Amino acid sequence: MTTPSPRPEILTIHPYVAGVSEIPGVNRTVKLSSNEGAFGVPPSARAAIAAVVSDVFRYPDGGAGALRTALGTRWGLDPARIVCGAGSDDLIYQLCLSYGGPGRDVIMSEHGFSIYDIAGTYAGSRVIKVPERNLTADLDAMLAAVSASTRLVFLANPNNPTGSMLPAEDVARFRAALPPDVLLVLDAAYAEYVTRSDYDAGVKLVDATDNTVMTRTFSKIFGLGGMRVGWCYAPPAVVDVLDRVRSPFNVSVPAQAAAIAALAEPGWVEAGREHNAVQRPRLAAGLEAAGIKVWPSEGNFVLADLETTEAANAADAFLRSRGIIVRKVGGYGLPQCLRVTVGTTEEVDLVIEAFTDFMRQSRG
Ligand SMILES: *Cc1c(COP(=O)(O)O)cnc(C)c1O
Repeated sequence: MTTPSPRPEILTIHPYVAGVSEIPGVNRTVKLSSNEGAFGVPPSARAAIAAVVSDVFRYPDGGAGALRTALGTRWGLDPARIVCGAGSDDLIYQLCLSYGGPGRDVIMSEHGFSIYDIAGTYAGSRVIKVPERNLTADLDAMLAAVSASTRLVFLANPNNPTGSMLPAEDVARFRAALPPDVLLVLDAAYAEYVTRSDYDAGVKLVDATDNTVMTRTFSKIFGLGGMRVGWCYAPPAVVDVLDRVRSPFNVSVPAQAAAIAALAEPGWVEAGREHNAVQRPRLAAGLEAAGIKVWPSEGNFVLADLETTEAANAADAFLRSRGIIVRKVGGYGLPQCLRVTVGTTEEVDLVIEAFTDFMRQSRG
């Protein structure tokens, strides 16, 4: 008997592995596995969600007009060049399905964000992963991987899970060296956390070219991962394509309301960035003092390098026994590492203490 079957490449996709949120038998857990903001939901977003409850029998504004206007005002952008999505993942899927496909290759870096691989393969593209140097995208090697079949290149900047950041000048040179028919997608999910002056989230390049897109999210510093809101800033031709193919009501009523309110929450981004700028180095220094190598990061997380898979697994198990959940990153080709989100000051204390005790006991 024959049964329905998907295109063969679909079954080569490994489902996205989300950060674990619960440990069986432990009732109080410290979740540092998904890079969610350290401060929970912005109060104004909480109120905005409550205020729209009686409106949710109506469809949302499919064009997310008020949200795009608020984004334009907040970041100084033309709202007509913004498209909103159910998380930036949604937009990454739509870009892959529109610009990728059979015979249309996608290029990403070896330890780049796994959604590019999933969405590219789903679209029918060949996804080429280019080796990195020092856990940083090797832009020359990525250029060397470009062929006449290349249609999309993804760069997360800063990258998840490595934390590495590429200076604006290098990204601009990379863009200039790519063929004009290749769409460069700059995924700036962690842009608000970056404090380095040589960084550009992508706005300048999107403005200067007609083949570059920047994606952003409300899931990290804005504390709205559960609402699913992201957006992109893109050339008019790309906006036109996304508006044709995206699900017409892709951002829900409460999600739009929460995002608009979060953008207007006084001092929210500044407080999140400042907290991160103090606590991320403190977390890194604490782990280093315990004898663990920590990779440089510009995001709200660090990558702890335990040097062997066994040590990383043992550290993960030790942390879990204390109710602390971090992220295993074997799926990213980094089984010797654990990614640790910067939580509250108390959570940073707890995770440093746990890693310190783990290293002490494993030395015997
Ligand atoms: C968290 C993250 C996203 C955000 O995804 P959403 O779908 O907006 O929640 C996108 N890219 C990277 C690199 C991320 O780490």
